[in-house]
Amino acid sequence: MSAHVLVINSGSSSIKYQLVDVESGDAMATGLIERIGQPTGSIRHEGPDGTTKLEQPVPDHEAGIAVILDLFATHGPRLAADELAAIGHRVVQGGSRFPGPALVDDAVEAAISELATLAPLHNPPNLSGIRAARHAFPTVPHVAVFDTSFHTTLPPAAYTYAIDRQVAADYAIRRYGAHGTSHLYVSRHTAELLGKDPSEVNVIVLHLGNGASATAVRGGVSVETSMGLTPLEGLVMGTRSGDIDPAVLFHLQRVAGMTTDELDDLLNRRSGMLGLSGSSDMRDVHDAVAAGDENARTALEVYYHRIKSYVGSYYAHLGHVDAIAFTAGIGENDDIVRINSLAGLERLGIAVDPERNAGRKKADTVISPDGSEVTVLVVPTNEELEIARQAVALVTA
Ligand code: AMP
Repeated sequence: MSAHVLVINSGSSSIKYQLVDVESGDAMATGLIERIGQPTGSIRHEGPDGTTKLEQPVPDHEAGIAVILDLFATHGPRLAADELAAIGHRVVQGGSRFPGPALVDDAVEAAISELATLAPLHNPPNLSGIRAARHAFPTVPHVAVFDTSFHTTLPPAAYTYAIDRQVAADYAIRRYGAHGTSHLYVSRHTAELLGKDPSEVNVIVLHLGNGASATAVRGGVSVETSMGLTPLEGLVMGTRSGDIDPAVLFHLQRVAGMTTDELDDLLNRRSGMLGLSGSSDMRDVHDAVAAGDENARTALEVYYHRIKSYVGSYYAHLGHVDAIAFTAGIGENDDIVRINSLAGLERLGIAVDPERNAGRKKADTVISPDGSEVTVLVVPTNEELEIARQAVALVTA
């Protein structure tokens, strides 16, 4: 029988889950619980019965896992401990400590908790999900798959910030990157689509979702990535500023009297496309541009400009680029962003064919013209499948 893995992605007020058949790569069931801890939680489960939607209080992650078990029991498919090869958990921050997935035990739980200083919004809820699931499935191996692992190969020149060595060492300040599971999956799959081994190709992956990051992958290995100590650095995102002169923060502290929490809120939750245009959703931004909104137009130009800066930089670092792959919500669906972000790069061998590019892409699609030096593709990401594969590989090793 093919291995089945339950993949759990547990956020501060949500749990996303998927039951994956590792051999076929198919999702046998998917679901999402939102508004955990609020008076009414919202629940969606898609399985063999179709879609089930419920509204009921879900006080915490433990209760959320219990709801998931009930949904599988009532609406299927069967979720029996003895039929699960593993439960795979997405964990955002693994620091320098986890270059690959880890079988969860009490020591791994403690390490995830310690690393929460580097990801205070993410690691604690990731850990709550792990604890609740271990409680519900004590006999199934639980595997933590870290968003940072793929980037532990970054060379010192790429991960070192030019600040006082001792301060950096004392507080573990360096670039860790994020979205690693997606960058790994997409870069490997891109090599497959080119008919080559990952070790033979250089790829720039543009993961453009609500969070967005770029990675330079040389021969299957991450050598540079745009997110930093936290997922705030780099590209313009839905609500995050991406790159900014750090002196803006001191300036706002001094002249506007803003506190650390207010600055955190400004850059993480009130900036990016939301701050510039009034909406974090690219579809709204395009609608606003169509209605003549100048702020929305500028927001898009800033968005393209930043992507182009990273593509140029990563081209320089890689020396030779075989492919550029777009992925995630915007990368897969937004043809306007794809074509404009790479406009004017023909001298680098980078071009997008307007007809091939047109429309949303649900499947792998080459969007560069035939004979292009650099193949430009859309490759839908599948982080759940990657987590499931890594979990199975670890427990069967
Ligand atoms: P993700 O974080 O990968 O789920 O991506 C979510 C983002 O993708 C949303 O905030 C939208 O901005 C964007 N998105 C989703 N569908 C479309 C679409 N059809 N056209 C443009 N952008 C889209």
